[in-house]
Amino acid sequence: MSAETLVGLDAVSFSYNGEWILDAISVDIKRGDFLGIVGPNGSGKTTLLKTILGLLKPDRGVVYLFGQRLSQFRRWEKVGYVPQRSEYRTLRFPITAEEIVSMGRIGRSSVFFGFERDDKQAIEEALQVVGMGEHRKTLISHLSGGQQQRVLIAKALASRPELLILDEPTVGVDVETQGKFYELLRNLNRERGLTILLVSHDIDVVRKEVKSLAYLNRRLVYYGTTKEFMRQD
Ligand code: ADP
Repeated sequence: MSAETLVGLDAVSFSYNGEWILDAISVDIKRGDFLGIVGPNGSGKTTLLKTILGLLKPDRGVVYLFGQRLSQFRRWEKVGYVPQRSEYRTLRFPITAEEIVSMGRIGRSSVFFGFERDDKQAIEEALQVVGMGEHRKTLISHLSGGQQQRVLIAKALASRPELLILDEPTVGVDVETQGKFYELLRNLNRERGLTILLVSHDIDVVRKEVKSLAYLNRRLVYYGTTKEFMRQD
């Protein structure tokens, strides 16, 4: 028996104004996988992500999350999403690391009645996992780029997701921080069994870090293990 499919795309196609941006994409992301979706600028990576997150509706094909058609899927707390850092206007607000992470519980709990013990535990645990526990009271604007990124991952982890999706997570961070960042993702994948989907244009870096690769150029040029990709390279 094969592992459970968390994200399934069955011949998904998408067009903007008659131009095909995604051409019959099929992928099958199993529980425990660490997949990198890579490709040059304009290759359709963001469009593919938006399709998986239900923000865009494919012209053809079907998207499945956790075995359900996307149109029926409601358990969004199972999906942690880390958008590109540039999309976070909140990073300029006077808000602490802990407050950002607690926003990751909204939708999961009855926050209108205040956070409950389980929420507080989940927030604390998420801060610890990313190594930001001691900075919980620090204003987000006072943290370095790498630390901010850790906080954003903690926010995504606060709903205790089973699938973590990251969009261009290493843009604008230095090489050392990048190394630590991938170490964190490896640990989350290996030790916590978190399934990870990472989108990046930086194929040279990503192919060294992930278990499997999808090379996108509007159609799927390669989809398989990283090992096999390196061999064919
Ligand atoms: P990537 O994330 O790989 O850089 P995108 O998915 O953002 O690629 O974009 C793929 C193509 O779709 C690009 O050529 C882009 O110009 C086009 N595109 C993206 N968004 C829109 C839009 N809202 N309207 C029309 N074309 C778009």
